[in-house]
Amino acid sequence: MPERMKKQVLPSKREPKERIKDFNEVNLGYNEEEAIKEASRCLQCKNASCIKGCPVGIDIPKFIRYIKEKKYYMAIKTIKRNNNLPGICGRVCPQEKQCEKNCVLNAKNQPINIGELERFASEKEDEIRIPEIKKIKKKIAIIGSGPAGLTCAADLALKGYRVVIFEALHKPGGVLTYGIPEFRLPKRIVEKEIDFIKKLGVEIKTNMVIGKLYKIEELLKKYDAIFIASGAGLPKLLGIPGENLIGVYSANEFLTRVNLMKAHKFPEYDTPIKKGKKTVVIGGGNVAIDAARVARRLGSDVTIIYRRSLNEMPAREEEILNAQEEGVHFMLLTNPTKILGNEKVEGIECIQMMLGPEDIDGRRKPVPIEESYFNIECDQVIIAIGQGPNPLLTKSSNLETDEKGYLKVDENLMTSMIGVFAGGDIIGGEGKNGATVIKAMGDGKKAAKSIDDFAKQEKLVKEEDRGE
Ligand code: FAD
Ligand code: SF4
Ligand code: SF4
Repeated sequence: MPERMKKQVLPSKREPKERIKDFNEVNLGYNEEEAIKEASRCLQCKNASCIKGCPVGIDIPKFIRYIKEKKYYMAIKTIKRNNNLPGICGRVCPQEKQCEKNCVLNAKNQPINIGELERFASEKEDEIRIPEIKKIKKKIAIIGSGPAGLTCAADLALKGYRVVIFEALHKPGGVLTYGIPEFRLPKRIVEKEIDFIKKLGVEIKTNMVIGKLYKIEELLKKYDAIFIASGAGLPKLLGIPGENLIGVYSANEFLTRVNLMKAHKFPEYDTPIKKGKKTVVIGGGNVAIDAARVARRLGSDVTIIYRRSLNEMPAREEEILNAQEEGVHFMLLTNPTKILGNEKVEGIECIQMMLGPEDIDGRRKPVPIEESYFNIECDQVIIAIGQGPNPLLTKSSNLETDEKGYLKVDENLMTSMIGVFAGGDIIGGEGKNGATVIKAMGDGKKAAKSIDDFAKQEKLVKEEDRGE
C-alpha cells in the first residue's frame, strides 16, 4: 500500500480471487461509520488548499463537514454546485494528483480520502430534486455525450436553454460507458447521472454521427450555438511489424467490445471476442490497466509492458495496486519492437530500456539498451499507448486544427468558427494530469458559460426562421 494511504480510513474491497471471476465493482465504498470517521480527520482549513487541486473548485471542507454532521443532503448539494457527476468523479478522478495532493495533511503522510467521501455523499442522494427552470427559446446543439458534453448540457439546461445532444453510439456516456469497465465504474451510476441530465430537459439523440449525417455548418442554421465534445477515440498504433496479425487489438476496440457490446457473454450477445491464453498489454495509463484487468477476467494470464518505471506510470495509483493484487504481471523498462507470428500472434519481441534525463512533460525519457532484445510468448496483444482525435468530424467542416488534429480554441473555448465551441479530449488532454474526466467536465462548464455569454449577445433566432 502506498505510504500516503496508510492513515486514511480505507473502504472495503472484494477479495482478488473472487473479483477476477466477474465484472462487479471491486471497491465497496465507505459505510456510514467509516465515512464519518474519515470526515472527522479533516482540519476544516481556512483558504483550504485542497480546493485549488480540484479542477471544478468544489468546496471540499464544507461538504466534508456536512458528512461529519450527517447532513447528507447538504453535502451533496454543496458538491453539485460545481459537479453534476459526483458518483463518477469520486470513483475515477486521479485524486492523488489533484485535490488530495493539495491536502495539508500530506505533510504528515495522511491526506483526507476526498474521492471516497465524495462517492459516499453521492450515494446518499436518495431522491434527485429537479429545480424549477424558466425555459428560454434558444437552442444549443452538443456533439458527443461524454463528460464534457453532459456537463455543458446540464449547465445550459439549468440556465433555461433547449439542449440537444447528438451521440454517434447507441448509448450515451462516452468513455464512461464504453471505456471504463463496470468493475471500476458501474453503469448504473453513469445511467443515474445521465437520467438527472435528461430530467433537466436535455434531449439525447443516439446513433447520430455528425460529420456524416450533418455538417457543423448545417447544424448552425438550426441552433444558436454548438459545443463539440467528441473526445479522442482514435487509437494510436505502435508502427512496428506484426500489428496486423490476428490477435492484436487496440485497447479501445477490446474495451468497447466488452463494456458496450457485452462480447464476454457471446453468443448470448452478438459480438464475439478472442479470449487469449497469454495476453501482453502495451502501455502504462488507465486504458492499459483497464484492458489488462478485463483480459484477466476473461481468464488470461496477463503482462503489462511499459517503457518507463512504476514511478512514471500515469494510471491511477489505486488501480495499479488493484491490478497487481489481481495477478497482472508488470514488465517495466520494456518496449516492444516486433509482434511475432505468421497469421496469428505467437509472441512479441521487446528491448530493455533505461531512464535518461527528463523530457518536456517532466518524466524521465526511456532510452533503449543496445542489443538487449528478448521474446515473450503470447497469443494476444492489446495496444494501449494513447488515443487521438477522429478526423471525421473536424475534417468535414472548415474548423482549424493543430498539427496533431485537435481542434484549436481561444480562451473562451470558441473554435475558428463563430458560435462553435469545443472542449474535453477533442481539444487535447495533454495537461500535466493527462486527459481526465474532470478536465473534460471543467471544459464543459467553461463552455456553457461562454455559450451563455455568446447567445445573450446574439439576436434571438425565431422558431419560424429555423423552419420549425
Ligand atoms: P468522451 O468521453 O470520449 O466522449 C465523446 C463522445 O463523443 C463519445 O460518446 C463519442 O461516441 C461521441 N462522438 C465522437 N464523434 C462523434 C460524432 N462525429 N458525432 C456524434 N458523436 C460523436 N479519466 C479519468 O479521469 N480517470 C480514469 O480513471 C480514466 N480512465 C480511463 C479509462 C479508459 C479506458 C479511457 C479510454 C479513458 C479514461 N480516462 C480516465 C480519460 C477520460 O475518460 C477522458 O478524458 C474523458 O472521457 C474525455 O471526455 P470527453 O467528453 O471529451 O470525451
Ligand atoms: Fe477531487 Fe475530483 Fe472530487 Fe474535485 S471532483 S474534489 S478533483 S475527486
Ligand atoms: Fe480538510 Fe485537507 Fe482540505 Fe484541510 S486541506 S480542509 S485537511 S481536505
